[in-house]
Amino acid sequence: MDFRTEVRTWLADHLADRPAPHPRAWERELGRAGWIGIGWPGEDGETYGNRRATLAEQVVWAEEYARSGAPARMGHIGENLLAPTLITYGTEEQKRRHVPPVARGETLWCQGYSEPGAGSDLAGVRTAAVPDGTGGYAVTGQKIWTSLALDAHWCFVLARTDPGSTRHQGLSFLLVEMDQPGRIEVRPIRQLTGTSEFNEVFFDGARATGTVGGEGNGWRVAMGLLALERGVSTLAQQIGFGEELERVVAAAVASGAAKDPVIRARIVRQWAELDTMRHHALRTLGSTGGPGAPSVAKLLWGGWHQRLGELAVQVAGEAGAVGPVPWEERRPYELDDAQHLFLFSRADTIYGGSDEIQRNIIAERVLGLPREPR
Ligand SMILES: Cc1cc2nc3c(=O)[nH]c(=O)nc-3n(C[C@H](O)[C@H](O)[C@H](O)COP(=O)(O)OP(=O)(O)OC[C@H]3O[C@@H](n4cnc5c(N)ncnc54)[C@H](O)[C@@H]3O)c2cc1C
Repeated sequence: MDFRTEVRTWLADHLADRPAPHPRAWERELGRAGWIGIGWPGEDGETYGNRRATLAEQVVWAEEYARSGAPARMGHIGENLLAPTLITYGTEEQKRRHVPPVARGETLWCQGYSEPGAGSDLAGVRTAAVPDGTGGYAVTGQKIWTSLALDAHWCFVLARTDPGSTRHQGLSFLLVEMDQPGRIEVRPIRQLTGTSEFNEVFFDGARATGTVGGEGNGWRVAMGLLALERGVSTLAQQIGFGEELERVVAAAVASGAAKDPVIRARIVRQWAELDTMRHHALRTLGSTGGPGAPSVAKLLWGGWHQRLGELAVQVAGEAGAVGPVPWEERRPYELDDAQHLFLFSRADTIYGGSDEIQRNIIAERVLGLPREPR
């Protein structure tokens, strides 16, 4: 059986004729079948993940996954951000301890970067970590906007290990287990959509195991990880975007909005831009693509997705504003797909570094424009 048929058959067998699986159980199901970390390398014939799939096979997996209508992944932070970072910067012991449980779909991770005073200006991190005498650290401080912190088993935390340091110096990338009652408190943040994907996280002497990449090298590791968030994992995401665009096109035809020349022009533009993004992603696949490539990718997809959300509610006409379910019969905050896309895509130009920050990076590091006054 060729790889695409194998993927398609597995997804069909595991999704058909059953209610949507719980996201946590689904992660373990994917892990058991070897569908997490399919391209990760290993040493001496071993692999940290599953399959050692080629790049082409990874693309096939992402394409078929998006087409199958399978649930959104809950383990994406561990799979796409933490594990590749450990494979690049971690010690052999860290890789062996943390990467296989991600590949098995057992361990979920969250990302502890942003703080109330350090979002775009991440170098303003104030969360402090001091050696605890056992080879680990005691972490104290507050993180915010931590996606999935309530569900996660572990968090990677950017913290200041040199108390006299400022800005990018003296930071370390630490691994913190979340189940530390009394030392870690997670407070969900209620969103506009009624759900609470993200949280505030308070650390009060929480234990971290050692650093990744060495004490004081946290900035380098944190930036390596952000490049993944901004760029490399976007090829799979674009396949999902393509599916969403097809649904918007179908909705425009169904509502009659597709007869409007302005709507038609916007749809075609979305299609052409998606094709351009795909080529950018393919061109930079398997490499960093130069200093600006992740920022270019982030700028392109963030704005594109937001405009698609705007188009989605517009082509739905009245239903875009009020939704398909009569108001009195709705659960609080109940949204249809178009409304969901519209509201959630507002965040796309913010997380992983806002559009303004990506433009600053391109201006200063690629175009050589004078640094922005601080
Ligand atoms: C859905 C979502 C999920 C997230 N998940 C996580 C997570 O899991 N973990 C995590 O650590 N963080 C997460 N974040 C936080 C995210 O990284 C920050 O929101 C982002 O970096 C912006 O920081 P801020 O919110 O503090 O805004 P600020 O930094 O206060 O920025 C406010 C505005 O000012 C602009 N601005 C700031 N500085 C400059 C400048 N120098 N030049 C020009 N304009 C500037 C920004 O572009 C923005 O428009 C998430 C955010 C969202 C929306």
